[in-house]
Parts: sequence; structure tokens; C-alpha cells
Amino acid sequence: MPYTYDTSNIFAKILRGEIPCDKVLETEHSLAFSDIAPKTPHHVLVIPKGPYVCYDHFAQDASDLEIADFTRAIGQVCAQLGVSPGADGAGYRLISNAGRDGVQEVPHLHVHILAGRNIGPMVMAPP
Ligand code: 5GP
Repeated sequence: MPYTYDTSNIFAKILRGEIPCDKVLETEHSLAFSDIAPKTPHHVLVIPKGPYVCYDHFAQDASDLEIADFTRAIGQVCAQLGVSPGADGAGYRLISNAGRDGVQEVPHLHVHILAGRNIGPMVMAPP
């Protein structure tokens, strides 16, 4: 399935250093930074450095190294935030929105790490 990556998206600009971010973690293939409009006391976005639109694009085209790096970066941020239940933290939620129905605002793959309060039900039921 072909994916079209828009190099003008805001996270591509962050990766190119054209706009600043509040960096939480940087690895060889991934970057984590604070969301500009946090929805929870901890709200960190983790992105791969490669040009992937969404999770299934990444799963299809990224190298095993990139996938391992990204997965471990997410875990490392959870550890840094102290929210891992395995370390007696209170937990967190990962969200990765994709496309129109997923209501994805920025077309560069990102995982939201949300933590710091009880986040409530997973999704709202239809009206
Ligand atoms: P999405 O709806 O695509 O899953 O989420 C995009 C997220 O990116 C939103 O939570 C939004 O607050 C965040 N965001 C949008 N623009 C910027 C920006 O310039 N800097 C940072 N750090 N976050 C941004």
C-alpha cells in the first residue's frame, strides 16, 4: 500500500530543527518531546526520525532497527516519567491516531504517552 509523506508537517520541521521542542529523549532513530497542548500532567509524543505517516506505514516499511529503537524509546520515556506499573508507577495510556477516522492531526507517526492522572474510559461510546 503506498503512503505519501508530507515533508511540511510540523513534526518534520521539529526533526529538521526548524522549530523548537521540549526534548524528553533522543535516540538514534527516535525523538520524544512534550506535547504543546498537554491533555494530562505527563503528555509526551514519541516519533520515529524516519518519514512514516502512521503506525501501519512504519510497521510495513521501517527497518527492524528502527522498530526496536522506537519501541524501546517509548518504554524508556515511561521509565523516565516514573509511570511504569512495573516500577510501582500509576500507569499510562499509549495512543497513536491514524488518518481521518483516527482523527490524526499531524501526519507523521507519533505515539502519545499520557499519564499523571486517571485517564478514564478508553473511547467514548457513540451518541
Ligand atoms: P494527533 O491528533 O495527530 O494524534 O496529535 C497531534 C498532537 O501534536 C496534538 O496533541 C498537538 O497538541 C501536538 N502538537 C501540534 N503541534 C505541535 C507543536 O508544534 N509542538 C508540539 N510539541 N506538539 C504539537
